[in-house]
Amino acid sequence: MAQRILEPGEIETLASRDVPRIILPDATHLFSARAARLRSLAAHSAIGGYLQLLAALADAQQALLDELTPHQREALQAQARGQQSSAAASAGMPLRPANTLRLDDRWRDWLRTLCRHCADEAGLPAETRQELQRVVAADDAWLDAQAHAVLERDDAPSVDAVAALLVMNALQVYWVLLASGFRPTDLKPLADAPGLCPLCGSLPVASVVQARPPYASYRYLSCSLCACQWHYVRVQCSQCGTPGRDIAYRALADADGDTGEAVRESAVRAETCDHCHSYRKILYLEKDPALEPVADDLGTLALDLLLGEEGYARASQNPLLWQSDGD
Ligand SMILES: [Zn+2]
Ligand SMILES: [Zn+2]
Repeated sequence: MAQRILEPGEIETLASRDVPRIILPDATHLFSARAARLRSLAAHSAIGGYLQLLAALADAQQALLDELTPHQREALQAQARGQQSSAAASAGMPLRPANTLRLDDRWRDWLRTLCRHCADEAGLPAETRQELQRVVAADDAWLDAQAHAVLERDDAPSVDAVAALLVMNALQVYWVLLASGFRPTDLKPLADAPGLCPLCGSLPVASVVQARPPYASYRYLSCSLCACQWHYVRVQCSQCGTPGRDIAYRALADADGDTGEAVRESAVRAETCDHCHSYRKILYLEKDPALEPVADDLGTLALDLLLGEEGYARASQNPLLWQSDGD
């Protein structure tokens, strides 16, 4: 009997058949875990004060989700579902696209609640408090326009950095709520755009190598907006798709200045691509189960400085770090 030899593509298809493709965010813990991680990173960070502020915001995000009744959750999810044709999913489009979905007005209430919560933080500079009050007092149309800027929609105005941070926090609450209305089997990575979130179409903030079964040792990209994670093969650029020898890993030198050892042992590394000259960080949960993509990306800014000096560009920005346009 002749044996047929499998082509490389077929081997990959067989190997990936059983890989769980999607990990949905756990809306009951996501933001509280992020807050805890931000606080622990703040103690050793040059931007510790900022991370503390973000931790307070993440706690407030969790409180907003926790306060919703099951009926309110279902109503918000149904409102989003009603806008999206099932044809979109079968055509390989994101299920709740960030760039077109009409937002429920409640997102502005959440934004203002987050601002007020933030303004109550002890030790906040008076200037920051005033900026928060400015955002609370802004009219609905301006806030909507800022949301469109944050979501990179057409015809949006320039980004206001202070508003953008708070708007992003409110929108994350909305999209995490929408994500929690799905089952993992409802989604699959986008065949034509495997680097974009299959739920909302946003770019990932970082990638994560999971440690627990059934996900252990597989790599996932983690969405900056809805926190959905989707499978992406290892040693392949998550920006341009180049695999193999153009890919390398960098980490900060350890205390003895040994970069080689540090790269092997580091729980957070940068995956660089010499084809498109970009990088994205990769987190190894087996080395530290407390790692959180948004928080640990901010906790390793020294690595960004190092790669910037070497001519690599970030593949995408952290959702909690904004500059006003033109800065
Ligand atoms: Zn997403
Ligand atoms: Zn690349």
